[in-house]
Amino acid sequence: MERWSNVSTPAMKRLGGIGITIAIGASIIALAVIGCRGAPPAEQSSTPTTNASSHEKGEPMSDKVTYSDEELRKRLTPEQYYVAQQKGTERAFTGKYWNTKQAGEYKCVVCGQKLFESATKFDSGCGWPSFYAHSDDAKITETEDASHGMQRVEVTCTRCGAHLGHVFPDGPRPTGMRYCINSASIDFDPAEADVKSQPEKK
Ligand SMILES: [Zn+2]
Repeated sequence: MERWSNVSTPAMKRLGGIGITIAIGASIIALAVIGCRGAPPAEQSSTPTTNASSHEKGEPMSDKVTYSDEELRKRLTPEQYYVAQQKGTERAFTGKYWNTKQAGEYKCVVCGQKLFESATKFDSGCGWPSFYAHSDDAKITETEDASHGMQRVEVTCTRCGAHLGHVFPDGPRPTGMRYCINSASIDFDPAEADVKSQPEKK
């Protein structure tokens, strides 16, 4: 019995050793397979990061401008200053552009950023220039506004911080939004074709 055990023990150990070697070998292969499978998602996840950073680079995020209060008081009319700088609201049907139907662009009265286009202007009947969308490239900030006992969303020019008006979810299609903007906060820039056609009118 002792002989058997003496002989068999090293053989069993060798067999066991082979078994462990096979097991380790298999697990290395398994890890290698997992490793290969793991590699593509790692590459994929890095792609959007690159896109995001290049997207951020494309947008002039540091494009903000500030003006001295003195300059703005000189440059803007009292009404423009009151509305754009002190979050005022012009009286309905008194502004320059509530009924303007000419083709062109509407820019921020303070910094000149293009904000709205005549193509999205519509007759809301509210007495203020109304648009169902802002320009694609316009930088506009929308902030919850609980002043005057109302729950509204204030619209400001992201570039200079000028108050523009409010946006309401009761506009026409396709957006369903109504940007209710003060004429005092914007400057109208007629389209060239529209300027040329003007002298023909008699
Ligand atoms: Zn502005």
